[in-house]
Amino acid sequence: MINIPKGTKDVLPSESYKWQYTENKLRELARLYNAREIRTPVFEHTELFVRSIGDETDVVSKEMYTFEDKGGRSITLKPEGTAPVARSYIENSLESLSLPLKTYYIIPAFRYERPQAGRLREFHQFGVEVYGATSPYLDLDCISLAYNALVGLGLKNVKLRLNSIGCPECRKKYVEALRAYYADKLDDMCPTCRERYAKNTLRLLDCKVPACREIGKNTPVILDYLCDDCRAHHDKLCELLTAVGVPYEIDPGIVRGLDYYTRTVFEFVTEELGAQGTVCGGGRYDNLVSSLGGKPTGCVGFAVGLERIIMLMEKQGVNFCENVPDVFVMSQSPEYATDCIKITSELRNAGISADTEMTGRSLKAQFKYADKLRAKYAVVIGGNEISEEKVKIKKLSDGTEEECGLKALTARLKEIK
Ligand code: ATP
Ligand code: MG
Repeated sequence: MINIPKGTKDVLPSESYKWQYTENKLRELARLYNAREIRTPVFEHTELFVRSIGDETDVVSKEMYTFEDKGGRSITLKPEGTAPVARSYIENSLESLSLPLKTYYIIPAFRYERPQAGRLREFHQFGVEVYGATSPYLDLDCISLAYNALVGLGLKNVKLRLNSIGCPECRKKYVEALRAYYADKLDDMCPTCRERYAKNTLRLLDCKVPACREIGKNTPVILDYLCDDCRAHHDKLCELLTAVGVPYEIDPGIVRGLDYYTRTVFEFVTEELGAQGTVCGGGRYDNLVSSLGGKPTGCVGFAVGLERIIMLMEKQGVNFCENVPDVFVMSQSPEYATDCIKITSELRNAGISADTEMTGRSLKAQFKYADKLRAKYAVVIGGNEISEEKVKIKKLSDGTEEECGLKALTARLKEIK
């Protein structure tokens, strides 16, 4: 037998309704915010991710699914959605559309990580990317969309943590201060941190090793190093979040794992998913488009991890509104199978979800099957029903019955379904 690859999952028919419910809600919310879907390929040239995410990051240095295709090109399955959208924005001259442009996507993403609950090698993201302005109102719109997405899905106790990592100018000064802080503490830190110290100092704040966290407790705070413009941007965003009622906490520890962020960075976190508690991450990335060869463009975006939010929704008992058939049309005996299929077709054409017996089973077996499907109603068709043009509609949850003319069946089921 051939098994599923490690770190991937099937979405089975018995649980796909949860994904559909979640995705439909997210698409609807994106529509309310005037965001339009963008679809980019599952794979891109490797160079796109190396140049945008940064070759010092975990994603690029350890986690990418990279291979050479038959034409000798280096190809990578997308580990995230932001860089492909930026590539598409530049390549298709989307700046010629009215800006700001709001886009969203629901995509599979691929990272070679150690699989565990909420951490997979193929996972899925709902992402939003807003292009075309550096105004903090865009940050607000984006964060408010993420917040309302989580609230709209019925999630509780998910907290917004907000920070600013400034622009390359203020970051330079901050990184110097960080290096000075860590300089005499490196011997007690993990090998990754020692490696990151010189090339990727900011990421020392990100380390999950308890000893490193302890050492990092009193690091200088980046918010104290912001230049006037970055400070004003951050303050305005805080003011706007308060004005629209999106609760947040300032968390100077949030630096995000990808290189392209500037100014605003944020995460939505829960305490209910253990180490995989970040359900959404995002921020502003004003230098990404220009670093990929486009014009300087203010952008802000986020991505929600769908596996994690669905896990959390399950934990918190959210009702995913499972689809069940409205009616199961039963055949008294196999000779009525054609009548049943005709009635079933008519019901479906009228927008009623209906199924019928197709394997010649006994009535008893059909009732069992309809119960398993959790059909709401059953209608039995036999000689009497056809000759007298009368049927009984049985409510399967409590066994109550009502009589109905065969011709009026569709209309009646439409009323009560
Ligand atoms: P983490 O710190 O948990 O590794 P990240 O910072 O690498 O997350 P992002 O690149 O910001 O994650 O991706 C956005 C969201 O996608 C995350 O907040 C998370 O919900 C989800 N996500 C990231 N990696 C995985 C994964 N391997 N499996 C499942 N979900 C993931
Ligand atoms: Mg990660």
